[in-house]
Amino acid sequence: MLNFTVGPVQSFESTLKIGAEHVPYFRTSEFSEVMFKNEELVKRFVNAPKNSRTVFITGSGTASMEAVVMNTFSKDDLVLVVNGGSFGQRFVDLCEIHKIPYIELKLNFGETVTEEMLEKYTERGITGLLINIHETSTGVLYDKYTVGEFCKKNNIFLVVDAISSFLADEFDMENIGADVMISGSQKALACPPGISLIVLSPRAVEKVQKSEVRSLYFNLKDALKNGERGQTPFTPAVSILLQINARLREIEKAGGVKSEVNRIKELAEDFRKRINSLPFEISSKSLSNAVTPLHPINVSAYDVFLTLKEKYNIWVCPNGGELKDKIFRVGHIGALTKDDNTALINALEDMNRKGLL
Ligand SMILES: *Cc1c(COP(=O)(O)O)cnc(C)c1O
Repeated sequence: MLNFTVGPVQSFESTLKIGAEHVPYFRTSEFSEVMFKNEELVKRFVNAPKNSRTVFITGSGTASMEAVVMNTFSKDDLVLVVNGGSFGQRFVDLCEIHKIPYIELKLNFGETVTEEMLEKYTERGITGLLINIHETSTGVLYDKYTVGEFCKKNNIFLVVDAISSFLADEFDMENIGADVMISGSQKALACPPGISLIVLSPRAVEKVQKSEVRSLYFNLKDALKNGERGQTPFTPAVSILLQINARLREIEKAGGVKSEVNRIKELAEDFRKRINSLPFEISSKSLSNAVTPLHPINVSAYDVFLTLKEKYNIWVCPNGGELKDKIFRVGHIGALTKDDNTALINALEDMNRKGLL
């Protein structure tokens, strides 16, 4: 099986090895050291402002999205939610559930958010902004600096879901002015699903400390306090945290975040160059290195996904809902190589010859 989905993705050998071992007991100084290193490397890789903190939540990315909404906003806020697809919609749903006042900035399919669009929301009393910097469902990467500038100018607390973008696209928290950054284990970290992480700027830490969140598991004050000694309030997904540790150290050794972003960028560019002659349109004008969203001109996108899976043993990522027949996505994150790209291109060319595209 060759996996080109956007998560869970293929893992590297060292990650797989750790997964095959017994799970160690974790209330130890050795495990605390692992957690300190995880925190340090994540913060370095996103250029988090001085005195930022990282919290690791056992739960998928959505758990951290929910924890952040619950711990940094309240009924006294007015949050602007950029909704360009199913992950933007998830922030809308979270604001609904937790009764956080919000305004939705709804985008058309494939559209990006512009300065002019945002300008309409000045003078409206907006206190926070929620955005998925790469809306993975449509493959649109928003301009983080446009969003960051708008928030700086209007003193808006900026929460960025960078779950599919972390390590795949450059992300500089300090320069963007982001207060919170969220990611997860099963995207470019290429580990199993089960851990998500939250980087909190000093301003975000302060907000969390003042929050009156009503939750036991999602109380980030508790997570921060335990994190001071390299621990978590409850039993975490220990193995995945060890896998994350190995992966972060490897990235560091191979040249740091820039070289990892470049590695993924090269894979994405190689693939995009080589599908030129096939009957596809790339359905986003603002691409992340993590994903290429493709619209087959003649056939159903879902059928392409099914054929690749059943006849070629290759997985790409289908879309749901309205987009099911329109687009499928090819991921470039995880343990993939240019040879893997070749295998996928060969399969697509074979399908094209057989009249299946
Ligand atoms: C994958 C992803 C998530 C998290 O989804 P989970 O299934 O909860 O891990 C959230 N936002 C974006 C942009 C994603 O790509």
